[in-house]
Amino acid sequence: MDTIDVDVAIAGGGACGVMAALRASEDPELVVVIFEKSTREGCNADVSSGSLAAGGTRLQREAGIEDSPQRHCEDIIGNSGDESLRDLVMSFCEVAPRYVDWIADTLGYPLEVGVDMPRKGMSVPRLHADPERRGGRPLMSFLRAELASRDNVAFVDEAPVRRLLTEADPDEPSRERVVGFVAEQNGRPVEVRATTTVVATDGFANNPALMQRFASSLGTPFYGGVSTSTGDSIGWLEPLGAQWMHMEACLRHGQVTLGHGTRVNPALPWAGAVLINCDGERFVDEQANGYSGLAGHIQAQPGERALMVWDEQAMAETITSEMMRDSLAAGAIHDAAGLVDLADQTGIAAELLARAMRPLPGRRAQQGRLHHTWLTHGVLTTQGGALIDTGCRVVRADGSTVSGLRVGGGSAVGTAGPKSEGYSSGSGLMAAMGAGWIIGEEIAGGLTS
Ligand SMILES: Cc1cc2nc3c(=O)[nH]c(=O)nc-3n(C[C@H](O)[C@H](O)[C@H](O)COP(=O)(O)OP(=O)(O)OC[C@H]3O[C@@H](n4cnc5c(N)ncnc54)[C@H](O)[C@@H]3O)c2cc1C
Repeated sequence: MDTIDVDVAIAGGGACGVMAALRASEDPELVVVIFEKSTREGCNADVSSGSLAAGGTRLQREAGIEDSPQRHCEDIIGNSGDESLRDLVMSFCEVAPRYVDWIADTLGYPLEVGVDMPRKGMSVPRLHADPERRGGRPLMSFLRAELASRDNVAFVDEAPVRRLLTEADPDEPSRERVVGFVAEQNGRPVEVRATTTVVATDGFANNPALMQRFASSLGTPFYGGVSTSTGDSIGWLEPLGAQWMHMEACLRHGQVTLGHGTRVNPALPWAGAVLINCDGERFVDEQANGYSGLAGHIQAQPGERALMVWDEQAMAETITSEMMRDSLAAGAIHDAAGLVDLADQTGIAAELLARAMRPLPGRRAQQGRLHHTWLTHGVLTTQGGALIDTGCRVVRADGSTVSGLRVGGGSAVGTAGPKSEGYSSGSGLMAAMGAGWIIGEEIAGGLTS
């Protein structure tokens, strides 16, 4: 078997892996490799909306928005109700403004604060995105191009990692430490030995057996993530004593267009959009839930679907989003001249529609020409994973950590808490890029285990 010796070996070239490599490779003495299953298949960061949550950025200050990592952390815990991971959440919130400013100011990627992106439990505008809202793919391409410009990094594509390399830990011979991994390149195994191994292979939402094992309560949702999220790390980390945490929680989405699989802008409820089930009932206060929490409400409706209706003003407020562009291009959004036309098109009686669309207290009435789409619920990514400490080391049940190994992004526990309803918008990329940033910085600073 071919053997490579490096300083840092990273499994997975998505949000976490790329950020870890970018930071670690700032130290020119370090040799870093990423083994990536397949950029052709893609990572979830590629297909994401690319919304980066961060509190206390230069961009927020310039927009007159007062925010801080502490406030961000409180908002996340307010949504998740989970105090047990406060230190970990805070560590991600602390680095988030640093890497968002770094991406914008040092690397030069165009970012702005999304003041048009209200989200449940987000006390101030905190999502950062490119001005045209092009989604995650251009951002990830940009970061990978930056990586490609570094002499001390190799990105090996179409080369899935198959298993971790372990040996008895010299400090504690009864325990295993990680010394690299075995990957497959051109159909042949290659042994990659490293001082630090990083597992950044995301979660398990595209592994039906693991979804059944950990998250069967979600039923059979539409899957909106990439094919590569097969939970490969679970089989690697379990024998090392990893503790699984919050495995039922997922980043769900309650605004997935039925029959198309695109999503509509999560800001629509704040622009006045109304949700109505097949029986003509308005079954939820649309603004009381984030899109992840909304998924459970839609799952509970007849046919696991609901009609979303909004007017021209709401359309104008939400159209600048890759989600709306995708949905329009897919033919998922329809127009109705008014309630009678809407009733004809949807099969829901006009008087039921009229009652359902009465504005809730303090809300604007939807009027004039209407837009509508049938929505169902989907899963985008899992949020449960290995319990890690604030340095992204895997924590065993006795509190010890696994030497030589760092884990981040969807392979580790996220910030949603025990239930999908607890997911805060922008937390998927924050946990992934935040972990990558922390791991890379510590490695570059010489803290290698
Ligand atoms: C449709 C959608 C929209 C989203 N929008 C947002 C958003 O706007 N903001 C936000 O914060 N979050 C968003 N998310 C969530 C976010 O994309 C993920 O939480 C984040 O990408 C996780 O980062 P990661 O590095 O763990 O995984 P990924 O970005 O998925 O990267 C993992 C990489 O590991 C590779 N891999 C897997 N197995 C192996 C293996 N055995 N060997 C080698 N490589 C392997 C994969 O191919 C992939 O490239 C969205 C997710 C989806 C699906």
